Amino acid sequence: MDYLKGLNEPQYEAVTTLHGPLMVLAGAGSGKTRVLTMRIAHLITNGIDPFNILALTFTNKAAKEMKLRIAKVVGEGNAKSLWMGTFHSVFARILRSEAHYLGFPSNFTIYDTQDSLNVLKKVLKDLNIDQELYKPKKVQARISSYKNNLITVRAYQNNPELIEADERANMKYIGKIYEKYVEQCFRNGAMDFDDLLLRTNELLTRFPEVLARYQDRFRYILVDEYQDTNHSQYLIVKALSSKFENICVVGDDAQSIYSFRGANIYNILNFKKDYPDAKTVSLEQNYRSTQNIVNAANVVIARNKEQFKKNVFSDNEVGDKIKVFRALSDADEANFVANNIWEQHNANQRKFTDFAILYRTNSQTRAFEDALRRKNIPYRVYGGLSFYQRKEIKDLVAYLRLLVNENDSEALLRVINYPTRGIGETTQNKLIVFADSQNVSLANVLDNLGIYAPHLGFNNGVISKLADFWSMIKAFQVMLKTENVYTVAMEVAQRSGLIKFLKDDQTPEGISRVENVQELMNSMQGFIEEQQQLEDGDPSLSSFLENIALSTDQDKKSENEDQVSLMTIHLSKGLEFPVVHLVGLEENLFPSFMSSSTREELEEERRLFYVALTRAEKQVFFSYAVSRFQWGKITDAEPSRFLSEVDEEYIEFLNPVVESRFVNKSGLSSDIFGDNFSEPRFFKKAEKKKLPSSDEPKPLPKNLKPVASAKIINPSGNSSQDIEVGDRVRHDRFGVGEVVFLDGTDPENIKAKVKFVTEGEKNLILKFAKLTKI
Ligand code: ATP
Ligand code: MG
Repeated sequence: MDYLKGLNEPQYEAVTTLHGPLMVLAGAGSGKTRVLTMRIAHLITNGIDPFNILALTFTNKAAKEMKLRIAKVVGEGNAKSLWMGTFHSVFARILRSEAHYLGFPSNFTIYDTQDSLNVLKKVLKDLNIDQELYKPKKVQARISSYKNNLITVRAYQNNPELIEADERANMKYIGKIYEKYVEQCFRNGAMDFDDLLLRTNELLTRFPEVLARYQDRFRYILVDEYQDTNHSQYLIVKALSSKFENICVVGDDAQSIYSFRGANIYNILNFKKDYPDAKTVSLEQNYRSTQNIVNAANVVIARNKEQFKKNVFSDNEVGDKIKVFRALSDADEANFVANNIWEQHNANQRKFTDFAILYRTNSQTRAFEDALRRKNIPYRVYGGLSFYQRKEIKDLVAYLRLLVNENDSEALLRVINYPTRGIGETTQNKLIVFADSQNVSLANVLDNLGIYAPHLGFNNGVISKLADFWSMIKAFQVMLKTENVYTVAMEVAQRSGLIKFLKDDQTPEGISRVENVQELMNSMQGFIEEQQQLEDGDPSLSSFLENIALSTDQDKKSENEDQVSLMTIHLSKGLEFPVVHLVGLEENLFPSFMSSSTREELEEERRLFYVALTRAEKQVFFSYAVSRFQWGKITDAEPSRFLSEVDEEYIEFLNPVVESRFVNKSGLSSDIFGDNFSEPRFFKKAEKKKLPSSDEPKPLPKNLKPVASAKIINPSGNSSQDIEVGDRVRHDRFGVGEVVFLDGTDPENIKAKVKFVTEGEKNLILKFAKLTKI
């Protein structure tokens, strides 16, 4: 069993403990995910049927990677029937087969955040509620938190405390809105993300025979990143594992960063209470990062009060110090990062995939994208507006959703007049009001247009437009019975007029929209092929739609391309990169303005900082800007308190600090929160070294004598030319570059520093170099 050989002692212990409750609580990079993976392999090697194993991961991508690794040990055939995926994807699948218990169609639609927000806005409109007072996003967050705590509409209505609390918060209509929203989703045959967990809980508690079936099936349950499970997820895991108690969770309380989404750090802290016989294993050796990185991370996280004390060390090289760059502006910061990546790529042979740029909020990406693009550095932004959130994609997907579930009125209204076919808002509103009055779906009204027509008050023109639209949808549905997903989608894109509509727009944006639709088609073909290869694959349209509703952009990573990764720290959890740029280290940005008023919030921000830092294997760069373009204006920024929490012995400053110290104008002092809160401290040891930034001229190297121009002899040797700094030249071996410095210290041997596009900077003696000016 070779796979056991690479494990250290506690890892081995965890992997080979096959039965009973087991918790691995350990710091970042200590091999928790690796242990989980190897443990599954070990279970299978020891004769456990993979069919009886369920593994829950943080992303679908992580699940895929684990499966590949397991397949290497136990063979592909064995790994095939493993159930692995995120909570949402696994339980969406279960709900699909059991939907009838809950009165849902098995082809229910999954609403993403935007879909559910749209439904919510309609509910607010229907109830005549002012959206300034009840901001839809805020209402959405509130409902989501109820759902994640298993507070159903009925539970809410029976809970005077909750009702009073909402009244005090001037939100007395929340209960009503919640009720209408749930009704509307139910009528649409749709579940939002939170429903996937809430309804699973409902299924398992209300129908003991269903629970028993899944308990029997999932005899071995494993959960990665357990610290970020919410109450709803916790209960599902608990219910499913309560018969056999073969439950293994791995996590790190210091990396719990999803409390805003209801994650409950106490799930991990209370594991021992739930399972008094549980075995706990701790892992102390970090295999990912250099000693400097691990030590720096330890020092910072030690400030948090609420945590298990852990000892984490690294046996890797000591490594470079963390480099800190102070930028003048957000653009300057982005240029520094792009330059640094470019230089390291050229000088140190680093691949672009070796780099990650991590930030606190999605809005920070643009400056980095601009800077990278200018340097032709390939990059990929994860999260944010994902591919499937783009309007043209959502439009086509809405058609497809309608084919699968015609009661999905959210989808129906999205496409009924898109592309425009003369079914305007007035007509749509009349349809909605009528459907509501009859308590039927919009699809039902359209199915029975002939009967309802006299009551709707539409003229013949409108009636025939509605009938045309609906018969087109029906025709697609018929086609779906015999043709595959790809063919149907192609037909939809064309016959609906969508493609033509997009193609008519010949602007670059318009063209890229058409390309995106093409990309969606490609991904469909890929999906069909993939499903056909799987033992229990399902190439149907509803399975495709489920797949995209639950895909995070992170899951779509094209593995083979060499590109820099840009993502929020939240998304970077569990990943690792040789070089990490942690950017925007400023007060009010990180820690975030929204999350620095209580100890709990600040501790969560600090955990986030810890997660970011521990993604790095070899090198970390911190950067901050002293002014930043934010909310439409330039604002002064101060360095983040987290910078001063890293011991100076682990840091090196790349440019001198102009201010004699970091002044924290926010006025927070350690007295308010107690001693775990850092006061900005004096930064005296700032190094005088300065890294080039494209906004500032490079300092001249000492002892060199710059000259304005110099002669070069053409390679043919028969003519000479003058070159100057800034000229573009070609070199036989190094290719094209730009002259950045001419040194005349030795007039006989004038040297040129040339920055080559692919080879980086080279110092050349002109009379030997054989350059051509271009
Ligand atoms: P995180 O807390 O960030 O999720 P983790 O505890 O899950 O981290 P892993 O991702 O499993 O850690 O492992 C971190 C790195 O260390 C991986 O590259 C992994 O392959 C490597 N690693 C783990 N254990 C060992 C070992 N015993 N020998 C060599 N490398 C190891
Ligand atoms: Mg991990």
